[in-house]
Amino acid sequence: WDQQFLAPPLKISDPVRAQKIAVRLQGLQVNGAVLRKTAAVFAAELEAGLQERPSSLQMENTYVPELPDGTEQGVFLALDLGGTNFRVLLLELEAGRLVREDVKQYHISDELRLGPGVDLFNFLADCVQDFVITEGLEKEEMPLGFTFSFPMKLHNISSGELITWTKSFNCAGMAGVDVAALLQTRLRERGLKVTVQVLLNDTTGTLVAGAQLNPDVGIGVILGTGSNGCYMEKASRVTHWETEHERVSDVVVDVEWGAFGDNGCLDYLRTEYDDEVDARSLLATSFTFEKYIGGKYLGDLLSSALRRLARDELFPAAPERLHLLTAHLSLFEEENEAGGTARTLAVLQEVCGAEGAGARWSRDDALIAQHVARLISNRAAQLVAVCISTLIQRMDREHVAVAVDGSVYKRHPRLKGLLQKYIQLLAPDHSFSLMSAEDGSGKGSALTAAIAARIAHRS
Ligand code: BGC
Ligand code: MG
Repeated sequence: WDQQFLAPPLKISDPVRAQKIAVRLQGLQVNGAVLRKTAAVFAAELEAGLQERPSSLQMENTYVPELPDGTEQGVFLALDLGGTNFRVLLLELEAGRLVREDVKQYHISDELRLGPGVDLFNFLADCVQDFVITEGLEKEEMPLGFTFSFPMKLHNISSGELITWTKSFNCAGMAGVDVAALLQTRLRERGLKVTVQVLLNDTTGTLVAGAQLNPDVGIGVILGTGSNGCYMEKASRVTHWETEHERVSDVVVDVEWGAFGDNGCLDYLRTEYDDEVDARSLLATSFTFEKYIGGKYLGDLLSSALRRLARDELFPAAPERLHLLTAHLSLFEEENEAGGTARTLAVLQEVCGAEGAGARWSRDDALIAQHVARLISNRAAQLVAVCISTLIQRMDREHVAVAVDGSVYKRHPRLKGLLQKYIQLLAPDHSFSLMSAEDGSGKGSALTAAIAARIAHRS
């Protein structure tokens, strides 16, 4: 059982070199025993977080009152901020189904990502204004769902404060600010009759959108630029409530597993490559678990490990910082599956700059880079599988469908299969299925706004 988590050994023409490389990369191989231990740590952190005891897991009550029941309807605006793209959407629902979807993407410059928060929110409101004008709806009263993919302290379904930025955002003066209220003010200033009805995390959106397709959905996962999950928890096991909740039996809890281990409880997993990636990231020492998994970091991990091999003269040249992307890691994996090396070598030569152009590259070098990519992908999938399998076990349902979205999940050639395999190994007695919830973060906020409207109507 334990061995099933380990990658096959590197097969190159020089066994001594292969052996030396194996030693350098040992830390990236996580065996079954360590994963089991990590699952136990995760379960303990989860419980502590729910009970508001010290924990690296926030376990945020999201106040989503109900899941879709097929009666959702209306026209909604949605904002999706936090990952690869910023988007404004117009969504129309009829009997719970999406019958219209207009989307516009806007580019957020580094200046806005790293500047004062007010500038960012002015820009978001400008984009909404531009969008509604394009749609000919600038005079309309419209509800808006704001998918804000960062950790928040939520007060109810339509308000919450940013706790900390993650990924590639770091705008000053925003911690503790109610992002829904700020957006609302900026929209009003522009004369728009748009009301921010719901504020939610992208994992929540993914769960809600998934539940609309399949009632067995109980977990929502994002594997994209960042990573996180949420799940249906029994309301009676949730300690923190800020709203009346007598009739609610289950609640969506946002785990924020990107921060898992930030209190030191996972230090045994860390390698020198993780230290390097963390140290050079925008927000060092924060959301360190996400840096094992997120698309923002996988290319960088690959680069860090290859640089180490180059320093030890086990690899012909060192990739330049930040030149290897997660897309390259996917490409290496894909070519490895197909048994080729040409494209891998072309990428390596390019990302190693002048050093790469001068070096002599062989088939073995490509195999080494592909092997490192494999180890990094395996570990990422294993760690996510630890989280998902723990949640599946905790929920104790006959079958749990897991709705997943995100760029890494969609584009990585082996990730879906790896997740399936590892979750099965870690939760062997449980029935589950992985389901792709395409654009869950966009659709989910419209659906949630519709649910909120339905409930408001009822009472
Ligand atoms: C954020 C989460 C989000 C995840 C995926 C993390 O950095 O903290 O709130 O769900 O990224 O987008
Ligand atoms: Mg997203």
